[in-house]
Amino acid sequence: MRKPIIAGNWKMHKTLGEAESFYSDVQGRIPDPAKVETVICAPFPFLYRLVQLSEGMAPSVGAQNMHEEESGAFTGEVSPVQLKDLGVRYVIIGHSERREYFNETDDSVNRKLKSALGHGLTPIVCVGETLGEREEGRTEAKVSGQVKAAYAEISPSEAAGTVVAYEPIWAIGTGKTATAEEAGDVCRSIRETLSELYGGEIAEKIRIQYGGSVKPDNIGELLAQPDIDGALVGGASLEPESFLRLAEVA
Ligand code: PGA
Repeated sequence: MRKPIIAGNWKMHKTLGEAESFYSDVQGRIPDPAKVETVICAPFPFLYRLVQLSEGMAPSVGAQNMHEEESGAFTGEVSPVQLKDLGVRYVIIGHSERREYFNETDDSVNRKLKSALGHGLTPIVCVGETLGEREEGRTEAKVSGQVKAAYAEISPSEAAGTVVAYEPIWAIGTGKTATAEEAGDVCRSIRETLSELYGGEIAEKIRIQYGGSVKPDNIGELLAQPDIDGALVGGASLEPESFLRLAEVA
């Protein structure tokens, strides 16, 4: 009953012309939005143009980050009000690259999550362990701690509309994927954590994506896991044909 959600994370790739041509290639070819939700999270400078091109149709447009404040003296930042004003609907929050290179913490992720929800954006909240943490058997503790910190003071009704992306850091951009079972187990433990926070009914509504070297040929087995409801995809979302394949399999 949870609708699968496939989100592309373009990171710092493409020029405007390339982004436009991606959109014209995929438009009208995306599978039925009633069956699968599709999103492209593009660099800020392309968002306005992509919202125009999408004309409210799939794939929807998302941002890869935002500042938590509505406006102010924050040079180089983009606010949720600005995103909403452009017609952007989704925002990735706390991607591991933001945590690693831009000093984002569980605390800032929590503030951004509150702010995104307060402005009617659908957040995709990223969590995941490092290779060291996995090897030490600390995966579930790490991820559950990140979920609890991100959702501090978020109400059940707000939480229900969010998306969690489980992305093991060692699987991002490396070609190494967690096996479907490994990914499914962690996603189940995330749902258990959400259930501790909000009860089973809300936890069953929250969609959990897997991310980390997802490709057309491995997405099927990942989505076959009962607690995996979609994917957050970097590299394989850059080519129109591969993005379409991902959406079709979902
Ligand atoms: P990848 O990136 O699919 O290229 O591994 C995933 C992500 O960082 O969201």
